This record gives sequence, C-alpha cells and structure tokens, in this order.
Amino acid sequence: MYLDYNATAPMRPAALKAVQEALHSVGNASSIHHQGRDAAGRVDRARRQLSDLLNCSSGEIIFTSGATEANNLALQAAYVEGGLIVTSAVEHPAVLETARALTSETPTSLNVLPVDRLGQIDLGTFTASLQRDHVALISLMLANNETGVITDLRPVVEAAHSVGALVHTDATQYVGKLPVDLRELDVDLLSLSAHKFGGPQGVGALFIRRGIRLSQRPLVFGGGHERGWRAGTLNVPGIVGLGAAAEAATRDLTDEASRITKLRDLLEDELLTRLPGSYVNGSAAPRLPGVTSITFPGAPADAILASMPDVAASDGSACSAGAPSPSHVLVAMGLGREDADATIRFSLGHATTEREIRRAVAAAVRAVTHVKALMNATAGP
Ligand code: PMP
Repeated sequence: MYLDYNATAPMRPAALKAVQEALHSVGNASSIHHQGRDAAGRVDRARRQLSDLLNCSSGEIIFTSGATEANNLALQAAYVEGGLIVTSAVEHPAVLETARALTSETPTSLNVLPVDRLGQIDLGTFTASLQRDHVALISLMLANNETGVITDLRPVVEAAHSVGALVHTDATQYVGKLPVDLRELDVDLLSLSAHKFGGPQGVGALFIRRGIRLSQRPLVFGGGHERGWRAGTLNVPGIVGLGAAAEAATRDLTDEASRITKLRDLLEDELLTRLPGSYVNGSAAPRLPGVTSITFPGAPADAILASMPDVAASDGSACSAGAPSPSHVLVAMGLGREDADATIRFSLGHATTEREIRRAVAAAVRAVTHVKALMNATAGP
C-alpha cells in the first residue's frame, strides 16, 4: 500500500507513455535540423500544457531539475543585497536553507515567521514585518508537505505588493492537486516539481511573472538556455513527462480532489476512532485533499513503520546527514519532541483505492497497538 505520494507519486500512465516516446527520439532542442526542431516542439508543447494548468503564459515558465532548484533560483534572483527576506518556520529546507545562505553575512536580513498550532502564520505579524525598510522578498509555501495545510496567499500578496516586495511561493505540493490560477493568485514566482503530481523525478519548473524586476543572476551559467535563466541541454524526456502529467492533472483535478478527500477522511476517521488519543495535525485548517499527519502519542513512528512493512508511509522526522531530528514543521506547530517523533504522514493520490485505505487502516491499528504494548512492557511497573 503506497501512501507516500508527498515524497513522490507514481507516474501517471500518460506521463509514462510520453517519456518512453521521447526517449526513443533523438534531438537537442537547441539544434536547427529536423530532429532538433522536433525536440523543441515537444518542449514547447510541455510548456503550454503546464501553463494551461497554471493559467499563465508559456513564456513565463523556466524548466529546472525540480523544486529545489526552482526555489534556489527564485530566491537568488529576487534577493537584493541588504533587503529583507520574510519566510516561515514551516518552509521546506530548499527555501529555508537558501534564505539562510543568501543572508549569511547579514542574518538580520532574514525574518522567519513563527506559525500557530495549525501551522499558519499570523497575518498581523506578517504585515508588521513589512513595515521595516526595504523588504525584498516574501517566500511562503502554498501548501505544507508534512501536514497539507494551505496558506491563504491573497492577503499576503496584496500587502507585499503594497510595499513593493516580490512574492515567491513553493507550490510543489499544491500543483496538480488543487486548481492554481496564477492570474488571480498574483504571485511573482512559483516553484513546482513534476514527480509530486505524476510526472518523472528530476524535472520541475519556475514560473517567473513577465515584467518583474529580478537580478537575472542564474544558478547555472553556460549556453543561455531557458532565456538565460538555466543553462544546459534541456531534459526533453523529463520535460515532456512533466507536460503530460500537467495535462492529465488539468483534466482530472476536480473529480480527483473530491475522491481523494473522501479517502483521506475515511483514513482519518477510522484511525482516530480505533486508536483513541491519536490526533491530526492542522486538521482545523484548510488542507490539501490527499495528506494527513497523525500523531499516535506513546508510539514512536519508526517502530510503527517497522511493524507495518506493507504500508509505505513516512515518519515526521527529517534525516539530515544521518542524524535524525524531529520534524521542524511539527516542532514549529508546538508539538513536543515525543509527539513529533510519534507522527506519521500518510499521503494519497491518483492511484489510491478505498481497498488500499481499508487495508492500511487495519495494518496501522495493529502496528500502533503492538508498539504501544511493547513500550508499556519495557517501561516496567
Ligand atoms: N518543496 C516542497 C514543499 C517539497 O515537498 C519538496 C519535495 N520534498 C521540494 C520543495 C523539493 O522538491 P525536489 O526534491 O523535487 O526538488
């Protein structure tokens, strides 16, 4: 039972077919001969498929190796020396670490906003942070990868634009799950990764709104591909797969979102009823359809996962350089270390079935009960 879609989703059949076809053709998208034009045509098509999903112009899309690179590029290009970066404590490391690196000489140029128990920033605190001089960039994720909690970006964008700051959003977990309308959302920069919505790994994109003022400082220098933003021969099969996944997501979005929400709710209801004391993180906030972060107090997540090898889910801990530490997201939301370490993220998607969910529930109930009994036994009288 694969319930780890937020780590990576299985390829959508249309994306798999498109990648296979592209792998059989030869041609560098920069070459002017027939094969080169064929590759360039495939890339153009993918750009249109993605811009249809996002409601932007295809000229506003830069293909990258994924969201990590897109986040790095966005922050580096939008950062102005001495300007303030405002972000939040629950961002992905690809944003937090980039922001820290850019401001390492002037750490006061970075403002990492705290979040409440639901994982949301306080709009008043955010607006107050804009009163300082020269805010260069706001970077807030559209949905959190661990809890699925969605950020209401409209008021953020309005306040940021009123002081002349740019807004970047890491929409990696949101794109392909819920509709994104970039004309309405009005952010300046948006990052995404294909493998989170059924495309291949190792390819993503950065949306750069036409006309915004950026430093034009690429991460990768070279032959000037992608309008100078990202040098290197284009990953045509990857880009084609991203486009096909975007097209499939555009078609299925609404039906899929309601089907997956029902399955997620079934999973939560069953686990909370059958395992009293467990709770869902961020449950009172607007959330993505297919993810739930559930804490089982008294039962360490690594032991639960080891006791249910047939269920592929993820624990709440981030493992950096081999040193497990509690999830910075859950800690920022106010969980103690023990509860953070007793949290499992289940994430569902386009191929998840009700049968799978029911089997996963049975396995999780058995595993949590078993681990709790073990913990009580070792705790002794
Ligand atoms: N941002 C978020 C919110 C993510 O969940 C991820 C993937 N874990 C990334 C960025 C990075 O994506 P990738 O590893 O595909 O570059």
